Order: sequence, then structure tokens, then C-alpha cells
Amino acid sequence: AWTHTARFLTTASRLDQLPAHELPEIAFVGRSNAGKSTAINTLAQQRQLAYASKTPGRTQHINLFEVGPRDAPQALWADLPGYGYAAVARQSKLRWQEVMARYLEIRRNLAGVVQMVDSRHGFTDLDRQLLSFVAPRIGNGEVKLLVLLTKADKLNRKEQAESLRRAQAVLAELSTDEADIGITLFSSLSRLGVGDAAETLQHWASQ
Ligand code: GDP
Repeated sequence: AWTHTARFLTTASRLDQLPAHELPEIAFVGRSNAGKSTAINTLAQQRQLAYASKTPGRTQHINLFEVGPRDAPQALWADLPGYGYAAVARQSKLRWQEVMARYLEIRRNLAGVVQMVDSRHGFTDLDRQLLSFVAPRIGNGEVKLLVLLTKADKLNRKEQAESLRRAQAVLAELSTDEADIGITLFSSLSRLGVGDAAETLQHWASQ
């Protein structure tokens, strides 16, 4: 599998610092603490891959990883800053919202967005807002979306079904081709949904 060979490429605090690239890029987004770093590490089968994104000074950066064999990389993964963290100053929040909005709107090689949503809380206003930035490109088939309902191990079967149903209702509002949107209950702990998610990402990169 490609996933064994993911490596850190670069970090950027501004969009113009991101290298232009031909490879399909997959962006990982989510509220801070939604389980994004853990999910990236799990999907890459590398415990420390998204660790760089958590080091002080880099939490407000876009961290770029290259995935696949070194001589034939298959995709880029972009770990976007977690949003909604209460301790971040308002100015800095606004700036980052703008950077993320612009990234999602204009990044040329963006092929897919993986949004981490805590399965216990469901979509928040911020999650919906973030989705709205990229919704036009999902709508016209340019970008695909995969929603991971994270930490599903914390819910029982009935709660899991309910969480999935609610999130699906939110996504239905996007009124796009269903083929461009995926959603799965996900747990890095129990590995629920990990295989499906990995398969989806691989599929996006090979299109
Ligand atoms: P991030 O801020 O979105 O990158 O979130 P992290 O990946 O750092 O995870 C936030 C917290 O949730 C940490 O304490 C993780 O150990 C925990 N966590 C992440 N994924 C899971 C999961 O699948 N199950 C459970 N029970 N906890 C998780």
C-alpha cells in the first residue's frame, strides 16, 4: 500500500508559500480536537506523521505531506489548521478562516477534502461554514468530500446510527452528486471505517 511511505514535505503560513503541484492534493480539515492528527497518522499508518502539525508555531500552518513511493509519489496530503480553538485570538482566527477559505477556493490541484467531525457532536456552525467554502467545487465535480465521524468508539450502536443519520441530513443540503460525497463512522481506536476511508483516498488519488 502507498500509505507506508508518507513524508513531511513543507509547512506554510501563507498560501503563496505553498508550492504549486501537479499531484492530486487531499486536504484534512476539522475543529481542533476532532481527532484530525490521529486520523491522519492512522490513515498513513505512521504514528508521528501529523505530529509536526501539533508542534508549537506550526498549529496555524498548512502542513504538506507527500504520499507514495519516493520515486513515484501519488498524492499530497495537506493538514489544515484545526479551527474553533477557543484560546486563539480573534484576529488570528479571522485571518486563518480567510486563508482556509481561499485555499479551498483556489488551490488548483485540490482533489478531495476529508472533514473530521466528532461523532458525538455532529456538524457545528463552523463545520458548516468551512463546507460552504468548498461546496461550489464539490457541486461542480471538481472536488470530492469525505466526512469522518470520529471517535465513534465512544458511541454505542444506536448512537452511532443516529450520528450518521444526522450528518447525512446535513450533507443532503449540499445538493450535489452523491458520488462526490462520502461519509463514514470512524475510529482510530477501534479502526471502524479506517479501511473504507483509506480506500476512498487511494481511489481519489488514482483518478
Ligand atoms: P486534532 O486536534 O483534531 O488533531 O485531534 P487529535 O488527533 O489530537 O485528538 C484529540 C483527542 O482525541 C486526543 O486526546 C486523542 O487521543 C483523542 N482521539 C483521537 N481519535 C480518537 C478515537 O478514534 N477514539 C477515541 N476514543 N479518542 C480519540
